[in-house]
Amino acid sequence: MRKKNYFAGPSVLPVEVLEEMRENIVDYEGKGLSIIEASHRGGLFEEMYDSCLSTFRELLSIPDDYDVYFLGGGATLQFTMIPTNFLTPGKVADYSKTGTWSNKACSDAQKLGNVNVFFDGKSSNFTTLPDPATVKPSENSAYVYLCANETIGGIEWKDFPDTGDVPLIADMSSDILSRPVDVKKFGMIYGGVQKNLGPAGATFIIMRKDMLERRNENLTAYMDYALHAKEKGLYNTPPVFSIWGVKLVLEWIKRNGGVAGMDALAEKKSSLIYDVIDSSDFWRSPVDSRYRSRMNIVFRLPSEELEAKFVKEATAADMLGLKGHRSVGGLRASLYNALPYEDVVALRDFMLDFEKKNG
Ligand SMILES: *Cc1c(COP(=O)(O)O)cnc(C)c1O
Repeated sequence: MRKKNYFAGPSVLPVEVLEEMRENIVDYEGKGLSIIEASHRGGLFEEMYDSCLSTFRELLSIPDDYDVYFLGGGATLQFTMIPTNFLTPGKVADYSKTGTWSNKACSDAQKLGNVNVFFDGKSSNFTTLPDPATVKPSENSAYVYLCANETIGGIEWKDFPDTGDVPLIADMSSDILSRPVDVKKFGMIYGGVQKNLGPAGATFIIMRKDMLERRNENLTAYMDYALHAKEKGLYNTPPVFSIWGVKLVLEWIKRNGGVAGMDALAEKKSSLIYDVIDSSDFWRSPVDSRYRSRMNIVFRLPSEELEAKFVKEATAADMLGLKGHRSVGGLRASLYNALPYEDVVALRDFMLDFEKKNG
């Protein structure tokens, strides 16, 4: 029996996708070899890759003047690549610090150039966000940077700032395809695939083509987005297995109502848990209710002892991954696209039962 998986990443995958992978791992679609044994220069891989990219474009309505491809190195490599490419001499990059992931991106950028922090959530312990309408790029801004959903703190931008001619760059590792996004508002969207899109290994890059005109000169090969755009991510060996998984997850999303379907499901699933949290003083959400994440629900109990008991009893009931990140403590339930609705109902019921016994 499969356990219920609330891990933050790597995280739950649709069981249908795992079964498709099992089915095809030895002999890919009757071709007589596995997709992970085939050259990335050969037809087998490229056919699969092109299909993956076109499904991605279709699901997110990515306009033609954007490049889409996958790289290795995780979302973390982008913390370096973004300023290396776009933080040009004499310019300043505008960063918001809203939690672990944007803080890391910001500190890497600070090592590489001039950074203006337009919002720092430190004083609120990263539990709130700026009103997007108040966000204005610096004069001389190279780009404005934000993390759409802070996976660890459980906080999510609901609307995005209008940055005019200054490119907006967003890390969407943990909420990609959980809601519609107007890609045109962004110069670049990227993320690791291991939260909402597939097995760990690949990082998706969606970048408006004219961004390449703004980049620094004399970049080393792997650091240069122009090279990756030209080679659609195949300059060096791509993370083949991960990309294959992403292709299957994207097709699964398409079969399940596309982004609109995932959006409705995310609303329904997260409401089940937030309704419990809001129903009594036993539960507490530290996050500003306007910006609570639908993907990563962070919550607290009256004591750390009760939190430890919650995790222990949940684990015994085959519910995994509910311990909060070590940096923030408490509890966290990640409700990614692939987490079945029934598993959220099971968590809700477990919570209500736990409250009855311990409240
Ligand atoms: C997990 C995560 C990262 C880091 O991803 P890696 O692929 O491990 O480098 C960055 N940003 C966000 C929002 C994440 O959730």
